[in-house]
Amino acid sequence: MDIIQLHDKKFKPFISKEEIAKQVNRLTLKIANDLGENETPIFIGILNGSFMFVADFVRGYPYNCHLTFVKLASYQGTNTSGKIKHLVGINEDLEGKTVVILEDIIDTGNTLAEIYKIFEEKNVKKLVIATLFFKPNVFKKALHIDYIGMSIEDRFIVGYGLDYDGLGRNLPDVYQLKED
Ligand code: 5GP
Repeated sequence: MDIIQLHDKKFKPFISKEEIAKQVNRLTLKIANDLGENETPIFIGILNGSFMFVADFVRGYPYNCHLTFVKLASYQGTNTSGKIKHLVGINEDLEGKTVVILEDIIDTGNTLAEIYKIFEEKNVKKLVIATLFFKPNVFKKALHIDYIGMSIEDRFIVGYGLDYDGLGRNLPDVYQLKED
């Protein structure tokens, strides 16, 4: 892995695809073990950033499950805009269901707060939050996160579904913004 350039910024190698695969697998098996074979959860991936994580996650899920995606964008460039858009794409009836939200990354928690607000109105049986990446030093909310893949420092990352102004989503490894 080498230093890469996306638009005007340089990024350095941060988490290899092998390490990501290990953590995703660990998360999948933990959630499968906790929910058990008799539960058929609905996994809801938060687009766009979660698509690669969700694809790998469900591939390793050993029991029956449903899968859908919703969109709730909040990020532009390398700074949180603070503005949360509305949710697009949920058509399923979630009442009485076990819903597992799959997030790519939780930063300030603004998106998570919006997710809680939206799903609390849907009378689900159980709402479970899982995120692949988590930035504990920026997280400002008193909201529960059930499963965390990797806690990382507060620096912008790209790759494995995450972008910088539209670029970098296709990278199999994760890169971190390089300050120089
Ligand atoms: P929050 O609402 O928790 O501040 O931010 C959540 C959203 O911001 C994520 O779903 C993701 O789209 C974006 N985001 C937060 N941190 C990063 C980062 O380090 N890199 C990228 N590419 N996106 C991020």
